[in-house]
Amino acid sequence: MIFVERTAKPQVLYRNEMSWTAAIVAAKKNFDNNSSENNKRALDKAIKKYGNNEIKQVLIKMFHGKCAFCESYIENVDYGDIEHFKPKSKFPELAVTWSNLLLSCKKCNGAGQKGDNWPEPSEGGPLINPCEENPEDFFEFEFDEKTLMSIVIPINERGNASEKIYGLNKHTLLIDRKNMFRCW
Ligand SMILES: [Zn+2]
Repeated sequence: MIFVERTAKPQVLYRNEMSWTAAIVAAKKNFDNNSSENNKRALDKAIKKYGNNEIKQVLIKMFHGKCAFCESYIENVDYGDIEHFKPKSKFPELAVTWSNLLLSCKKCNGAGQKGDNWPEPSEGGPLINPCEENPEDFFEFEFDEKTLMSIVIPINERGNASEKIYGLNKHTLLIDRKNMFRCW
C-alpha cells in the first residue's frame, strides 16, 4: 500500500454531490421512520449514484489502474470496484462524497477483507486511508534476501489493524512481491 494523491473531483460530482447526498439523507430518514421494502429500495437507489462511470474512470486514472490496498493491477482481469473507505452500510451519507471513494479490487473489497469493516479506535481503528495518510508511517517492509519474501510489518496499533483487515501479507501478495523482485 502506498500513498496516492487524490486528484480533482470528477465533474459529475461537482454538479451532483450535494443534491445526491441530500437525496440519500432524505431516503435514509424515510427508511429509519419506516423500514418498508419501498423505502429500502429508494435508499439503495439513492446510494447507487456513486456507481457513475465518470467517477470510476477518474478513480482508475488516479490509482493508475491499481487497487488502493493490495496495489494489484486490476485492469487486466476486472473493471475494479468503487470502494467506500467509510463503508456505505454504516455511513450512507458519504456514499457519493469524493474524499470517501477509492479504487479497489474485488478481493480487497470483499467481506473477508476491507468490505464493510470499520474498526473503532478501541479495536485498532480507524483504518489507514492511502489518500490521506502515508502508509510508511504505519508499516515497514522486511525483505528476506534468501527467500525473496517481502513482508509488511505494522509499527503501531492502527498499522496492525489495517494490515490484518487489508490482508497485506496474504500468501498471494507475498508471491506477487517475490515475482516482482525476480524481474528486477
Ligand atoms: Zn486489492
